[in-house]
Amino acid sequence: MNYQNIMEILVEEAYDKVSPTFECCTCEQCHNDIVAFALNQLPPKYVATQKGEVYSKTYSLGLQHSADITAALMKGANMVKANPRH
Ligand SMILES: [Zn+2]
Repeated sequence: MNYQNIMEILVEEAYDKVSPTFECCTCEQCHNDIVAFALNQLPPKYVATQKGEVYSKTYSLGLQHSADITAALMKGANMVKANPRH
């Protein structure tokens, strides 16, 4: 497989940055639920990679996308807070 959805990486990175502001549980189950919820809200962004190399953080989608990602993560956190599965 020589492609990947870098939205997954961007959402994970954004989660690490913004999750302390959520006042939401950050156990593995809640983390996964929030990230999965956010990814379902956002368009996938596939890129070709070379020989399975993981795409680096140098890829930027710009500020509008990062605002979208943060908003999607916040919605996910609210959902998890209301209905935690842990
Ligand atoms: Zn939890």
